[in-house]
Amino acid sequence: MPEANQKRSHHEVIVIGGGVIGMSIAFRLAKEGREVALIEPNELGMGASYGNAGTIADYATIPVGTPSVLKNLPGLFFNRDSPLSVRYRTLPSLMPWLIEFAYQSLPSKAETNAGKLGVLLKNASDLWHEMGVELGASHHLHKRGCLYLYESNKSFFNAKYDEKLRRENGVEVEVITAKEVLKHEPNLQPFEGGAHFFPNATSIDDPGKVMKIFSQKLTELGVTIYPTSAVSIDTNNQNYIKVMCKDEVLEASKVIVSAGAFSKTLAKSFGENIRLDTERGYHLEFDMKTPPVTRPVCSAKRGFYASPMVGRLRIAGMVELGGLSLPHVEHRLKVLERGAKTMFPNLGQPSRSWYGFRPSMPNSVPVIRPSKQNKNIIMAFGHGHIGVTLAPTTAQIVSNLISAN
Ligand SMILES: Cc1cc2nc3c(=O)[nH]c(=O)nc-3n(C[C@H](O)[C@H](O)[C@H](O)COP(=O)(O)OP(=O)(O)OC[C@H]3O[C@@H](n4cnc5c(N)ncnc54)[C@H](O)[C@@H]3O)c2cc1C
Repeated sequence: MPEANQKRSHHEVIVIGGGVIGMSIAFRLAKEGREVALIEPNELGMGASYGNAGTIADYATIPVGTPSVLKNLPGLFFNRDSPLSVRYRTLPSLMPWLIEFAYQSLPSKAETNAGKLGVLLKNASDLWHEMGVELGASHHLHKRGCLYLYESNKSFFNAKYDEKLRRENGVEVEVITAKEVLKHEPNLQPFEGGAHFFPNATSIDDPGKVMKIFSQKLTELGVTIYPTSAVSIDTNNQNYIKVMCKDEVLEASKVIVSAGAFSKTLAKSFGENIRLDTERGYHLEFDMKTPPVTRPVCSAKRGFYASPMVGRLRIAGMVELGGLSLPHVEHRLKVLERGAKTMFPNLGQPSRSWYGFRPSMPNSVPVIRPSKQNKNIIMAFGHGHIGVTLAPTTAQIVSNLISAN
């Protein structure tokens, strides 16, 4: 359709993508009195922000790429049951990301990345509790800590590296024995090794419900929602940015790109080549009145969290490298189920399953900055495993960036 025939609307700020990142940004900016529009083709908050493990993981200063992951990478890739897998037919397109990932896993790089994550994560929990109050969602936040299990003596010993990286970056961690774990969570099966306990960690008991609360609040605050997809961003006009959508053209003084794992092509349209890819994750849910654990418990070996949620236990995790378009792999769900039943032998049949796309950078550090091509476009994506955790932090950074120019 020729551009002259298309509807145009001008906004102060347009946020692209209605996941937890885009909604937190829109929420904060609207609360500050800015006129905000949000573009989202699907129901708000139903991407990765719906199906995650619900941890406000302010202890997650360890990047995905570390020297030990690098050392074990071939074994992980070739083991069908491993928590880290690759879809081989996507290898050619994945290769630049994988090479950068390998480079970022070198000791000095991993330590630098841990430092960057530590800075970002410093106030994540406090900011979530503040935002929880503003949203009227505090009842979904629980400060009961989080357990990381290392289920062999060898992996518990090797976890000293993680402990060091966490402590160096300000994380409070208690190193406890497997027996002590069972005092905290008596429904777990006895195991070898030990655990790290993060006493200050908070978790969300129903991320989907919190996304719905967000969506309602945005409407109450007068945020305009466009139920469409942004296709590209045009920076040719000096006075405003044009967002070319599927069926209309919108204009704004500032544009925030926060379309999660789908942000790469949008960034390319205004000249930013970002090495963003996706780590697909899966979850299984088991409906029950009282989940068998009282706080999120991560099995480091199996690569998933067992998270207690309202009326169910959610087993969420896995890392599958393989782009955004291939169908899911049923075997991954079977591996999750088997792992869950090893930890909790009384689980019955799963009630439902899900998969979604983490937006992942090779160094695990999100991109939160103005575009070098145009300072009125701010990129806020690539949060990988900690997007829920960093949502209010990201909104704060974006708000500061907007106020600064
Ligand atoms: C299994 C699993 C467990 C996880 N556990 C945790 C956890 O415990 N703690 C934690 O902090 N993080 C966790 N994460 C990571 C976290 O879920 C993500 O980092 C976070 O949800 C990313 O948020 P987002 O808003 O960037 O992306 P999304 O939630 O994916 O939202 C992006 C939105 O952009 C929209 N969009 C896409 N293209 C366009 C377009 N062209 N125009 C307009 N809109 C568009 C999509 O429809 C989508 O709604 C987990 C992830 C997974 C998969």
